[in-house]
This record gives sequence, structure tokens and C-alpha cells, in this order.
Amino acid sequence: MSKIWLSLAHMGGAEQDFVREAFDTNWVVPLGPNVDGFERELSAWLSERANREVHAVALSSGTAAIHLALVMLGVEAGDEVICQSFTFTASANPIRYQGATPVFVDSEPDTWNMDPDLLEAAIQDRLRQTGRKPKAIIPVHLYGTPARMNEIGEVAARYGIPVVEDAAEAMGSVYDGRYCGTIGQYGILSFNGNKMITTSGGGALLCATEEEARQVKFYATQAREPFPWYQHERIGYNYRLSNVSAGIGRGQMRVVDSHIARRQAIHRLYVERLADLPGITVTEPRGETPFLPNYWLTTIKVDREEAGFTPASLGERLAQADVESRPLWKPLHLQPVFASSPAYVNGVAEAQFNCGLCLPSGPMVSDEDVERVVAVIRGMR
Ligand SMILES: *Cc1c(COP(=O)(O)O)cnc(C)c1O
Repeated sequence: MSKIWLSLAHMGGAEQDFVREAFDTNWVVPLGPNVDGFERELSAWLSERANREVHAVALSSGTAAIHLALVMLGVEAGDEVICQSFTFTASANPIRYQGATPVFVDSEPDTWNMDPDLLEAAIQDRLRQTGRKPKAIIPVHLYGTPARMNEIGEVAARYGIPVVEDAAEAMGSVYDGRYCGTIGQYGILSFNGNKMITTSGGGALLCATEEEARQVKFYATQAREPFPWYQHERIGYNYRLSNVSAGIGRGQMRVVDSHIARRQAIHRLYVERLADLPGITVTEPRGETPFLPNYWLTTIKVDREEAGFTPASLGERLAQADVESRPLWKPLHLQPVFASSPAYVNGVAEAQFNCGLCLPSGPMVSDEDVERVVAVIRGMR
């Protein structure tokens, strides 16, 4: 029996053809036909689903995409940016790259994502304390479950604050008929090795207009002004995706829909197989809004009283059975590096962190693998 991994990449087959083409034509550099092709295909895939024009700019990482969104919004030293607390550190690090201060907002229990009421309370309190509005709001669609974007959007609009959607984990997730990453003013995707699709490492910033996309590309290529010589009037970055990596992305665009369907099927199988087990809940969004998560990772909640074991002990037992699992993201307001940042907390994220576990969910996970994981969980009793 081989090891079952949490979220391994799966190659569709066409990736090597595009990469070979890059080698054959000697486009082994940042930019080139694969970058253009990948951006075109990604933009078309998103535009079709969003029912509006989406302009995707391929970048070296999702983190770079968040950073450039903040650059585009003029976030500077001394500014504050609101960020969901329950997330990976990459959601908030770019705020600090700009010398700004992250302000963390806790989650609501139905989606585990940013609580819209607490968001509004946080904005009002920042206004009281600093006299200034936060410069941006970064909600996250954690594990592929959409945040309550209608309510978050209403609050953001009421105070005139732009929204940067961290959809790193949510490519293909649908919220109220809209695709994650295309709802806010800017959206970001990640193509890291363990995300929905991969370029081995990479990301995209999703813009609403061609002009914004052009500006993002300018910042991502060292902010070179249109002069015959190298003329620079602003600080730029070296954030473009390489033509080789983009070749992998082009191959992945041919299998993205089946990857999404596979992760959703794995989630359904976990729900079905664990339904009768006391103290174990396979996480699904609750509430009225029609959600369709991509279920990037299936997560479970362990009620230690009812289940008779802790998520940590389950994780150990899974490891002994050669199954990779992972604790949920530790909320950023509890991370030592962000100890001095303001935080608006209701306890939801911390409670989830304490009782949750991520299960193997990648497209390489077979139905038999799910049965093996389920058998370990059942064996805990
Ligand atoms: C992976 C991830 C990122 C960062 O993406 P990279 O491509 O790894 O830089 C940002 N936010 C969240 C929520 C992520 O899971």
C-alpha cells in the first residue's frame, strides 16, 4: 500500500508538450508564447463563467498577486488593510511588504470565512481609533468554500473600500452564481503545487479591465517605462511567470474541470462514508446562499467529547497508516509574527483550528484511498 498524500498535483499529459515547445523554440525565459497562451486560456475560462470580461495576469506566485493588488490600490506605509484571520500567512504578508498594518477579522460559523458583521464593527472601530478607513479588505475562500461575498460586498460598498478576493484555494468555486476570484475588485489565484491547478509555482491576478491588467504587467516587469533605454519612475517587481511554468499551466487548463469535479466527488464520498459516525462532521457550508465549493481540501470537525478522540490523535493514527493529514490553518491573530496587529475576534477561527483536520483530497486520491482513510477514522472508536 502506498502513501496517500493530502493534495498532490496531477498532470493531464499536455503539460510536457507545451514545456517541450518552450525548449524547442528556446523560449526558456520569463514571458513568451506560453505565458500569453496561458493568460488567454485562463481569462477565457474565467470570463465565460463570470459572464463578464476577466483579464488574468500570470505571476510568479499567488503571494505576488496579492502584493500587486495592494500596489494597484495604493496601499502604503501607515495604511491599514483588513484581512481574514483564518487563513494561510500568505494572505497577510504582502500587507507588511507595503509597510502597512494588517487588521484581522474573525470568521462566521457557516463558512468559516470573514464575518461580515464583525467586518463592519472593525471598520467602525478603526475609523474611531485612527480617523482613517482601511485601504482594502481581503476575504479568503478557505479550503475552497466561498466567503459571504454579498454581505462583505455590501459592507465594503457602504464604506467605499475595495475588496481583494484571496481565491488561492477556490478556483472553480461558485458563490450565488458567481465565480470566486471574479467577485471583488481584484481576485487572486495560486498555482502552487498543491492548489487546484499548478504551474509548479505561480499565481494570477484577476482584473476587470485590460487597462488594469496592463498596469499590473508593468509593475510585474520592473516598472520599465516606454523609452528606448531603461527608464524607471516607479518601484517595480520581478513577478512574471516563466514561459516554461506557463506551459505546465496550459496543460493544466485542459484538466481543470475534471480536477474540480474529482475533488467535489471525493468530498461527497467522505460525507457519505462518515455520516453515521458520532462526533465527526465533514465540513460543508450552511445557510441559504447557494454555494458550490470546489472542496480543494475536505476538512472534518472532531467533537472530542462525542468522538472520544482528538484531531491530533487522529492525525497521528493516520500518519501511522501512511496517510497525510494536516491541522487547519492557525488563525493569523494567534501567530507570533502578527502579535502587534489589531484583531477583531469572536472565537470561531480558534475553535475551528482546535477541532479540525484536513483529509487527503487531491485528484490523485482514488475512491479506494478514501475508503482507507475512512477505515482509519472508524478504527479510532
Ligand atoms: C496558497 C495560498 C496563498 C499563496 O499562494 P502562493 O502561490 O503559494 O504564493 C495565498 N492565500 C491562500 C489562502 C493560500 O492557500
